[in-house]
Amino acid sequence: MNEYDSSRMADLLGESHDMELTDNAEEADVLLLNTCSIREKAQDKVYHQLGRWKKLKDKKPGLKIGVGGCVASQEGDAIRKRAKHVDMIFGPQTLHKLPTMVDAAAKSIPITDVTFPEIEKFDHLPAPRVDGAEAFVSVMEGCSKYCTFCVVPYTRGEEVSRPFNDIIQEVTQLAEQGVREIHLLGQNVNAYRDESNADMEADLADVIHAAAAVDGVERIRFTTSHPVEFTDSLIEAFRTVPELVSHLHLPVQSGSNKILKAMKRGHDRQAYIDKINKIKAARPDISLSSDFIIGFPGETDDDFVDTMNLIQEIGFDHSFSFVYSQRPGTPAAELEDDTPEELKKQRLAILQRRINQQSYDISQAMIGSTQRILVTGYSPRDPGKMQGRTENNRIVNFPAIDARLIGKFADVIITDAFPNSLLGELISSELESSYSL
Ligand code: SF4
Repeated sequence: MNEYDSSRMADLLGESHDMELTDNAEEADVLLLNTCSIREKAQDKVYHQLGRWKKLKDKKPGLKIGVGGCVASQEGDAIRKRAKHVDMIFGPQTLHKLPTMVDAAAKSIPITDVTFPEIEKFDHLPAPRVDGAEAFVSVMEGCSKYCTFCVVPYTRGEEVSRPFNDIIQEVTQLAEQGVREIHLLGQNVNAYRDESNADMEADLADVIHAAAAVDGVERIRFTTSHPVEFTDSLIEAFRTVPELVSHLHLPVQSGSNKILKAMKRGHDRQAYIDKINKIKAARPDISLSSDFIIGFPGETDDDFVDTMNLIQEIGFDHSFSFVYSQRPGTPAAELEDDTPEELKKQRLAILQRRINQQSYDISQAMIGSTQRILVTGYSPRDPGKMQGRTENNRIVNFPAIDARLIGKFADVIITDAFPNSLLGELISSELESSYSL
């Protein structure tokens, strides 16, 4: 979501102030830090970075500095108390006001705006500009679930969905620029409901059906979904929409009923398994990934064993897993936490080893299979190879040097598997007339 927001900031300032992105902070006129507050470490990094940027501003007083994202939302003016050189403080829902903020900063007027003005920002964003065959499209923002460990509802606001027609218009604009793979985004993407048209009441499944019908769109992904919002219509989309990839990221956080309840996730372990079984019935080859929080307050060895058993039962292919990080202002921050940090780290290492092994086993089993990939470019490590992504999110490197392949679908046969990538041989591609989608 932050990546998406960052690209929209670049689009905005490109249009309003003719600004261009630079990788070199020293030549920038405006430096923006788009922040994340999901874990304490990410939050700490903000002030370290602002400290480094102060030195740049001392050398170049006209430089303007802005802090956006969830840390800005949570801390507001407190940021300027610790870093007086910050000119603009804006939240995820006010980034569309950046052009005005930059103008004010030029007159040395510091601005802080971290409000949640519904979803008006999308009315002020320019048409997306893309360079490549993959693009994000935000369909909803915020979250109303209030899991006890999470800051998102406080930093991004409650769930608000974009109008259905606006989303499909954006997908169409992207497809016209050559985008083949659309990644639908939302904090709780499957809580999407089109509130702009009470008669239609479109949900995420409707968005997927409509996006798949847009000329040029060949692949659709969505993140991040919530188990309790996984409706039958969405499960059915896995059966009926071939453009929807055979990969699903469905966070579970823990396999223990006691911990799921303490997290206020709204479902138990069995409900999660039941959903997965229904999804697997609709799309038998689906690959599954999840999020895990290890060492939530009160997690015992037995709770951890429940999580490990769930990992084995579902056969997860990948995870985003972390030791619990207490976030100020959340209900879980009040809970007693007597599990030693060292033990939490040991549990996390055990979990990550297991999931890495499962992932490697799945990669090994892919050797000899033919995979359809979207070619994204040249391999950064081997100039004689190009690379693309499989439906189950694996990078495949294959010998080829042909710029015309970039942005095209190709079939490759998998010849070897490594921990982070696959090796393949090109069989056919859209460049040849025999290739059929
Ligand atoms: S559903 Fe996700 S974003 Fe919402 S509160 Fe829970 S963890 Fe946070």
